[in-house]
Amino acid sequence: MTLRLPFDNSYARLPERFFVRQPPVPVAAPRLLALNRPLAEELGLDADALASEEGVAALAGNAVPDGAEPLAQAYAGHQFGGWVPRLGDGRAILLGEVVDRHGRRRDIQLKGAGRTPFSRMGDGRAWLGPVLREFVVSEAMAALGIPTTRALAALATGETVRRERALPGAILVRVAASHIRVGTFQFFAARGDEEALRLLCEHAIARHHPQAEGPMGLLRATVAAQARLVADWMAVGFVHGVMNTDNTAISGETIDYGPCAFLDAYHPDAVFSSIDAWGRYAYGRQPGIAAWNLAQFASALLPLMGGEAAIPEATEAVQGFAPLFEAEWNRRFAAKIGLPEDSPQARPLAVRLLDLMAAAGADFTLTFRALSEEAPVPEALAALPEWGDWHAAWTAQDPDRARMRAANPAIIPRNHRIEAMIAAAEAGDLAPLETLRAALSRPFDPDPAHDPLRAPPREEERVLRTFCGT
Ligand code: AMP
Ligand code: MG
Repeated sequence: MTLRLPFDNSYARLPERFFVRQPPVPVAAPRLLALNRPLAEELGLDADALASEEGVAALAGNAVPDGAEPLAQAYAGHQFGGWVPRLGDGRAILLGEVVDRHGRRRDIQLKGAGRTPFSRMGDGRAWLGPVLREFVVSEAMAALGIPTTRALAALATGETVRRERALPGAILVRVAASHIRVGTFQFFAARGDEEALRLLCEHAIARHHPQAEGPMGLLRATVAAQARLVADWMAVGFVHGVMNTDNTAISGETIDYGPCAFLDAYHPDAVFSSIDAWGRYAYGRQPGIAAWNLAQFASALLPLMGGEAAIPEATEAVQGFAPLFEAEWNRRFAAKIGLPEDSPQARPLAVRLLDLMAAAGADFTLTFRALSEEAPVPEALAALPEWGDWHAAWTAQDPDRARMRAANPAIIPRNHRIEAMIAAAEAGDLAPLETLRAALSRPFDPDPAHDPLRAPPREEERVLRTFCGT
């Protein structure tokens, strides 16, 4: 069996200043830790060939497969609100693009593939923890029906990376609609490179928003895609954790799973990332931050829109985020409490429920799922004096439980399970990884064998801090 990757690399055909051609740096002893066979199939790739020695060498960056044109993409970005004119792929190499079985163009990227001209002080590598975290969480998001980059494979490198301590090295093979970010546009805007901006705009429209007309159309389509995406996150209690403009994809996919986390106890101010000291990217701040990032996108596009004269229309397009997001949020939370989308009671009941959940510190996923299954809600919630009134008002609306079960996952990638899975993998035990993968592939219709994975963490199991893993 021979490995054949039918590459067709549109990004590599853009001008040379969009990237630096850079092969991955080979690793000592590559070993496959996880392979996503259904995704390989979707991409039109032979999973057995990927798992072969030749396949593993390609996925680890030890051999550049035929047709690949490896490169590191250039981009800039606002990180925690601060402008960084040059970021770029410091530890990721785009191998190339394939057109999948549905005719969609997909990037294949190796994350942790070695140093590039964008690496600055970094070693260009990744360690096992963040690689397995991204593998599991991005695939869980896909199973939840949320737009996201995907994980094709995770590999051990047989090398050690130095962080606070020596850690096992790993590579994630990431698949994305593209890796074009708000920060990619910002990179060229900051250089006053209008020609590059125009080419990037045309490229992004063709790839992601073919119905959009010109830069204003691209802006509006991206605003809408981000409004849907962030509403999706809010509806499953996802905290991205590092919503910098370089981590905001024009495609509307979730990208860059660093210190992300799913809520256990609900609170709008919940923050997990160790580097988010001020809670800029707290759960409840995500819609506002997405709008801020889109305003940066509008600024970057302005030269293509005719400059200052376009500011009012661009502003109006960005301000369109709020009503779009609210409509998307209303739709999802109406489904979560089993009410019709157009029910005037849905939003006030959902908002009130969240307030009570915050007051009780109720587990987000468990509460909605318990209501869906007519099971008891968390004790602290049921014990609130206001609970009875809310519950009576809600049941009076005759909620549709089947609809709720399709909207409220029973199983999410809980932080404490992820951390335990990583610790086991570090010790050479991949069984918890396999169990998590299997359970998370059926979030709405779980196998009873996976019931233990539904439980929130006990007090001593709670994970309060997550790390970027760079
Ligand atoms: P992130 O926080 O993962 O979005 O990365 C922000 C920037 O830091 C990007 O330009 C990355 O390529 C770069 N970076 C992160 N980790 C490393 C690393 N280990 N080596 C080189 N560059 C890195
Ligand atoms: Mg990033």
